[in-house]
Amino acid sequence: MVIVPPRVLVAAPASGQGKTTVATGLMAALRQRGLTVSGHKVGPDYIDPGYHELATGRRGRNLDPFLQGEPRVLPLLRHGATVGTPADVAVIEGVMGLLDGAVGRAGFASTAHVARLTRTPVLLVVDVSGASRSIAALVHGFATFDPQLTVAGVILNKVGSVTHEAEIREALAATGVPVLGALHRDPALDTPSRHLGLVPAAERVAAARRTVGALAAYIAAGVDLDAVVAVARRAPALPGPAWDPFVEVGGVSVDATVAVASGSAFTFRYAETDELLDAAGIRLASVDPLHDLALPDGTAGLYLGGGFPEVYADGLAENAPLRQAVARAAMAGLPVVAECAGLLYLGRDLDGAAMTGVLPVRARMTDRLVLGYREARAATASMIADVDDPVTGHEFHRTRVEADPGAAPAWRFRPRPSAAHGTAAPTLDGIVGGPDGNVHASYLHVHWAGHPELAGRFAAAVHRQATGSAPPAAGTRPSAAATRGGPAAGGIPAQRPASLPVPASTATVDPPTVGRVTLVGAGPGDPGLVTQRGLDRLAEADVVVADRLVPHALLRKLRPGVRVIDVSKVPRGAFVPQERINQILVEEAHAGHRVVRLKGGDSFVFGRGMEEVQACRAAGVPVEVVPGISSAIAVPELAGVPVTHRGLTQGFTVVSAHLPPGDPGSTVDWAGVARSGTTIVLLMAVQTLPEVTAALLAHGMDPATAAVSVENGGTAQQRILRGRLDDIAAVAATHGLRAPAITVVGQVAAFADATQLTHA
Ligand code: SAH
Repeated sequence: MVIVPPRVLVAAPASGQGKTTVATGLMAALRQRGLTVSGHKVGPDYIDPGYHELATGRRGRNLDPFLQGEPRVLPLLRHGATVGTPADVAVIEGVMGLLDGAVGRAGFASTAHVARLTRTPVLLVVDVSGASRSIAALVHGFATFDPQLTVAGVILNKVGSVTHEAEIREALAATGVPVLGALHRDPALDTPSRHLGLVPAAERVAAARRTVGALAAYIAAGVDLDAVVAVARRAPALPGPAWDPFVEVGGVSVDATVAVASGSAFTFRYAETDELLDAAGIRLASVDPLHDLALPDGTAGLYLGGGFPEVYADGLAENAPLRQAVARAAMAGLPVVAECAGLLYLGRDLDGAAMTGVLPVRARMTDRLVLGYREARAATASMIADVDDPVTGHEFHRTRVEADPGAAPAWRFRPRPSAAHGTAAPTLDGIVGGPDGNVHASYLHVHWAGHPELAGRFAAAVHRQATGSAPPAAGTRPSAAATRGGPAAGGIPAQRPASLPVPASTATVDPPTVGRVTLVGAGPGDPGLVTQRGLDRLAEADVVVADRLVPHALLRKLRPGVRVIDVSKVPRGAFVPQERINQILVEEAHAGHRVVRLKGGDSFVFGRGMEEVQACRAAGVPVEVVPGISSAIAVPELAGVPVTHRGLTQGFTVVSAHLPPGDPGSTVDWAGVARSGTTIVLLMAVQTLPEVTAALLAHGMDPATAAVSVENGGTAQQRILRGRLDDIAAVAATHGLRAPAITVVGQVAAFADATQLTHA
């Protein structure tokens, strides 16, 4: 459990009103007061976090529901604010206008969205240069528009004079939003901007330090820092788990070096990328493509992030020794991941300046800015993704590349709705290249905290490169499938934080290598009812742990040599306890296997799937869940029963009846179920059907309500028994209904029709 420290979010009504000035200056000013400050930026930006880093002395970090996934935002804030020395206060800088988010998504990923997710009070920075009293109406609007937000104060920026300030303050008094600062114009403070925003601090460290120092003084003079800290302290502590790279990719023990491009031309990289690679046991060594003449000793992978190679094209071209070293290594199979700047560096030339020539592309600078969120799927299998694997990312560049015909694209962007032309065609981005598909380069910037599997797969590819271990026999293509199993034995284990549980069966000096576990839902009964992703995972599996409800035909289709562990039975017919199943999953993964936990129906619907996920996580085993079609939905449907139907029912209630009404262990409110007016889908109700139907009748349901029991749904043995609420238990008894079966109670049950069964 980690708490989120006191915090404020610096937002504005629109871009260009002074957010970065205030946020960065505030971070630096609070630090000068002796506070430990962590800096965060909403959205995909790389440049502002560089300034935050100078201001706070710790890495700047991004918070972005689109790139990281909504549930990770708060854990990432907890992580960033507590890693190393826990911060006394966190300052979050917003992006664009407070309410502006991903286009067409109702403000998703906006600053307001992050404020809500993290319950952070908002300081509104307003450029007042063009108005006076009208500012009050604007602030009133922002303070009241979204009741879930707390606009806790205003900072007036670009105040013209003392009279101007007084006029605004007087009008603002009526809004109840306090003025926490007033900044008079200071032309000396303009930070140099460039075609993608500010100049990255890392390109001009000395000057940037001076700027940040000046900002600190400016903010300390114009803003009531005590009042800001008081606002920050009013934010709730929100205890909960911090994002943990060891949980995300932990256990992949790799002893290998990845060269990470750095220096003035390569300044864009998320802090969490480094942390994930580090957690996967990778040593990071920076290489400056402008100045270093060779790759670091023992380089087994190369990560080229973003930056401004177009500004430094000549310098990059002049460093021919490194260009040649990169080209030789990539052509010899070195795993390389490149985003944007990296893509350009891997091409033949950039505006005529020679690059490494690893990829058949040419790049040039243009006037048009390409900027935005992208939803993408892998267009070509590579070491980091299987075809169609989804990622989210963002694009941010003014260059264009042209690839030779026939190049294998890296990503396929989901078409964006375009107002002018309806829906635009899908766009392809980047290239999968190199002799082995070992080079993955594109414009897309992916936040690996949102897609830790990319880091895990890259780490595994790097490990294979370092040890020269051959890909598994089945993996003839250089795809993610071949990397899944994690590294073979050996190697120096990743350092784990002391708080993480180390599997009891292993010595801490030499933790085992770790495969992964995927929970795959399938069926029920019908082997056709498994998702494509589930089939893909089955095709890659080394071990399948199956239970009783799994369609057996699926097991017959596995590739030769795959071990099937049937946990529905132990030698003398008893069920395997859940704890033992958890243990099997962890042990098999620790042995380096790709384990599929195959379940009938969906793993999270009365499947105890979450317990398995938790057991894997606790043991540092990477785990993924592939949804299945729950019998609660599929079995009625295969018997011709729609669980909802317009005019008859507005919903359905799925209940496990393994404990009868009145049983002290039962948590079901049967009276509530009876009164719900929805279709009732009963699982595990064969034994308890007499008591359950009696309870529903006792709680006032119409005895004539249609009811149907379906046994062995989706199989050739499917049986359908029709009746009413007051006689279905008797019908079931007469016909000897046996598990597995589902009983549906509700008017929709009258649709039941055995001829609906189309698959067996
Ligand atoms: N996770 C599973 C449910 C497991 S609980 C799912 O999502 O479907 C087991 C119950 O599921 C059984 O008792 C029965 O009520 C139902 N069930 C599973 N397979 C079934 C089948 N082929 N026909 C009828 N009911 C089935």
